[in-house]
Parts: sequence; C-alpha cells; structure tokens
Amino acid sequence: MNQNKITVGDITIVGITDGSITFDPRILFPKNSLEIWSQFYDRFPEYFSGKYFKNNLGSFVFTSKDKIIIADTGFGPNGLMLGSEPPGKLLNELKLNNINLSDITNVFITHLHGDHFGWNFREDLPNRPITFTNAEYMIHKLDWDHYTNKENVDEDILKKIVPLESMNKLYLLDEEKEIAPGITAFHTPGHTPGHMSLLIASQNERAILVGDIFGSPMHITETDLFYTPDWDQNMAKSTRKNIINLIEKYNSTIIGSHLSFPGWGKIIRWKGKRYWKAL
Ligand SMILES: [Zn+2]
Repeated sequence: MNQNKITVGDITIVGITDGSITFDPRILFPKNSLEIWSQFYDRFPEYFSGKYFKNNLGSFVFTSKDKIIIADTGFGPNGLMLGSEPPGKLLNELKLNNINLSDITNVFITHLHGDHFGWNFREDLPNRPITFTNAEYMIHKLDWDHYTNKENVDEDILKKIVPLESMNKLYLLDEEKEIAPGITAFHTPGHTPGHMSLLIASQNERAILVGDIFGSPMHITETDLFYTPDWDQNMAKSTRKNIINLIEKYNSTIIGSHLSFPGWGKIIRWKGKRYWKAL
C-alpha cells in the first residue's frame, strides 16, 4: 500500500518525497561487502537497484490544530549527493498534495545534513527567496553551533541555513519542547550533535519521527555497523538502540526520512531479529 496519509489520533501526517537517489552502499558502510545486503533483497525490493541502495529522500507534513509543520526539506535540485543527482521534487509534491507553502507554520529540521534542508530557499527561482514565508525554521542549537562553526561550515550551510538568522526566521531548540499540540521535539544525538526526533501522541496513539537515526529500512536490523555519516559512532549506536526499544515498548509507528516511501511502518521480530515493516 502506498497511500501517503495517516492519522495519529487528531494529528494528520502526509508523507512526501524529494525523490530518490541510487548509490553504492559501500559509500555509507565502507567496512562491509555488498553481499551482506543480499538478505534484504526480497524483503525490500523497492530499496534496491541491482546491488545498490535506492534511497528515499522523505519529508513529512504534520497538521495539529492550527499548526502545520514540515519536517525536513529534502536535498533540493542542485548538486550531487553520493554521486547521484537528486530529482528535487519536493515543491511539486507539496502542490500535488494541496499544501500551500505559505500555510506552513514551522519548518522542523531534524539535523543539518544537506539532504534535510535543500528547499529552505526557492532554489528554482533567480533570487532564491525563502520558501516557507510564514514559518519559523527550527534547528537544534548544538547542530547550529557545530555546522556554522568556521571549521565545519560549507557552502550549503552558508546559503541555506546561515541567512535564516538575520531574516529572523531561525528558532533554536535546546530542550524538549512541544512544538504543536501532541507533537514534541526531543534530542537524539549521535548522527549529528543536535539531531532531533519528534514524538507524536494523540488519543492513545503514538508515532516517532526518527530522522536519520536509521539511514534505510535495513538499519533497523543492522544497528551496529560502522556508518560513515554518523558524527559519533558509539553515541549513534546507543541512540539507535534506545529508540528501537522505545518504539517497541509503546508499539509506536516509526517514521523515517530514508525509510521506503511514504516512510512509516512498525518494528517486527522475525527469527530472532528485528525488521522494519511498512504499514
Ligand atoms: Zn539524510
């Protein structure tokens, strides 16, 4: 089933995508052979192109009362990611789902990797105006400090993150915070210093947006491998395990940027291992 809308109690969630990119898994898992992924070919056929990963670049729109939050804004239309050119479909997808850019009240950025803030500005227009004209852009303070530091800053951050401050569009988070009724941001560090997740809880139903704690559906099973994009390997592994335990404990729905489109499912156990299963 590919329906891209679910509800969690009174909260509506729409899954959208900036497209997908295909790349050699050894870029992300340099210590492992291609063959270790063959056990997943039958389970996640949509996630493979031959032996390569076909990674979804997912974003999510949450509506709760008068708040409309978009979590992450894709890679955008310019540049290469892991050697591939992403399609940059996000704005078109929003239009197809009847979501107006000016209606978004909050842009929640799980972390400051380039595939999560690519459409903060209108990369398709000459003067690159801000995309979500009425929104607060929410970033964790530790990611802001780390990635705008002169030792780490890059062109993407300079173009798509730094200007938010002088435009008065930046809202830095540094503690757990309910950002809309039933939607709470909390700190899940490891992938980056200020990586954040969202707990969505309404009428006894729960979902957890996990950002890039899991970089693919396979990551729910293979939690302990060296993963190049993680800023702190040990912290990332322990966050990954904690969040799996939390999700299982509450039988929550799991929502992730790089899970198969539309990006949500459950964690199931099968023959002594845990797997992601699409809803
Ligand atoms: Zn990512």
